[in-house]
Amino acid sequence: QAKARGRQRVQHFEHPRMQGAPDRLQLEASLSQALAQNELQLHYQPQIQLCDGRLIGAEALLRWHSTELGPIAPQRFISVAEDMGLIHEIGAWLLRQTAQQLAAWDQAGQRLPRLAVNLSILQLEDQDLVDRITGLLEQYRLAPERIELELTESLLMQQAGQSTATLDALRRLGVRLAIDDFGTGYSSLAYLHRLPLHQLKIDRSFVDPLPGDPHAQAIAQAVIALGDSLSLEVLAEGVETAEQAAWLRDAGCTLAQGYRYSRPLAPDAFAAQWLQHRDADAF
Ligand code: C2E
Ligand code: MG
Ligand code: MG
Ligand code: MG
Repeated sequence: QAKARGRQRVQHFEHPRMQGAPDRLQLEASLSQALAQNELQLHYQPQIQLCDGRLIGAEALLRWHSTELGPIAPQRFISVAEDMGLIHEIGAWLLRQTAQQLAAWDQAGQRLPRLAVNLSILQLEDQDLVDRITGLLEQYRLAPERIELELTESLLMQQAGQSTATLDALRRLGVRLAIDDFGTGYSSLAYLHRLPLHQLKIDRSFVDPLPGDPHAQAIAQAVIALGDSLSLEVLAEGVETAEQAAWLRDAGCTLAQGYRYSRPLAPDAFAAQWLQHRDADAF
């Protein structure tokens, strides 16, 4: 903490014009260099089974540490990347990176069952998305169900008509599809039923007030019931306490992710803490 703050202060001296939060132009200028300068990294957060705490997969989360601006949260820079059109390049890098990482862990005898990646809805409009994923699966010899694509509910619903062809092609390919931040958008249940889905992720904003809050309880229960009736996995995100985990498990939610189990970790730390010295039969 103190060390991080110290570094921050040094940066302000080196860049007197960049005090405070960087503005949009600074973000754009630095972001356009980020890939070439190797400033992007993926961190991995474990996803576990609530009944026994067993690892079932992980979510890859993008990290940007700009040499000029310091660390920038994904929620800030991803929308900038989308507006700039850079998200296609970043998304392609991200997909390759995840396939490469899964294969590298496989080769090291540290098999991660599956890896979820967040897809920008703009990537769904990419003509080569399906070919790109097909190529990566072949190149890295990965079974398609080891890749899960996360799409946010609100964006998916806005795009309802246009993206279905791509989604159908992804389903035929065999990759898994999850709806992220579920409960925050306005899903048409009829449309949801037609989507080739595998998982609903209960948004953190409904997990946070658990177990005490009746409103959050009602929403979590509704999502779990919906998952049951559509035969979808339900994963709760942002689980921080034992009480939340117990409530969710008793309510019938099977999967979870959150600080209670682990923060997102750099690849080496993730492998050391979650992929090594585990019962091989568990996979
Ligand atoms: P998300 O996909 O819903 O990711 C979950 C966010 O919650 C992550 O924040 C994660 O670090 C955080 N989180 C996980 N467990 C807990 C917890 O127990 N408590 C709390 N308070 N937070 C928790 P992060 O990494 O800052 O990412 C934020 C959002 O940025 C993501 O939300 C996702 O929408 C977007 N994002 C991240 N990486 C990518 C990416 O590679 N591509 C795209 N398109 N979007 C990404
Ligand atoms: Mg996500
Ligand atoms: Mg989420
Ligand atoms: Mg969320």
